[in-house]
Amino acid sequence: MTASPDLSFAQAYHALTMLVAATPRLMGFAGWPLAVAAARPAHVVPAASLVKEWADDDIPAHAALNAALRALCDLANWQQTYSEAEVGADFLARYGYFELVGPTGHYRTDAVRAYIAYWGGGLVYPWHVHEAEELYYILAGEAVFEAERRSPMLLRAGDTTFHAPWQPHAMTTGVQPVLALVLWRGAGIDGLPRMGRA
Ligand code: ZN
Repeated sequence: MTASPDLSFAQAYHALTMLVAATPRLMGFAGWPLAVAAARPAHVVPAASLVKEWADDDIPAHAALNAALRALCDLANWQQTYSEAEVGADFLARYGYFELVGPTGHYRTDAVRAYIAYWGGGLVYPWHVHEAEELYYILAGEAVFEAERRSPMLLRAGDTTFHAPWQPHAMTTGVQPVLALVLWRGAGIDGLPRMGRA
């Protein structure tokens, strides 16, 4: 039996809710309000198929969410903030994100924004900034995170890192790709990042 799109999103939302509820660093960021399902058109980018084929779950607690995310890769409203001139063709072929929960997400709330984001191995996500406060939580894989006023850190599944408003940050993947939950809160929650350090 093939699951309906609505059921696939409900399963992902439920799995994310369970992970947030069980993870104080996530629940402590912005709580977890009830969000209302909203129809968003499927918009697939090349990275969606890479996420769907990926079956490397380091942490058992992530298995339900990661499986649910793979199941909706062809249904999600994937986005790419940057142009080829900014990041290059290879980056665009192996990166993408969608807003599962948030002001314009598949589940609607203005209290928090929860992106699911993927970068393939060997990519450099250049320095960028945004107003909203941000918490990265690694669902699978690993990457080196850099931020101004801080030493670089290698983050693996279950690790988090926080970015203050307008704190420039960058990310580099090694051999492995990385799949991350990215939470935003506060002023600028409905904005977008931009390239640069200011
Ligand atoms: Zn950011």
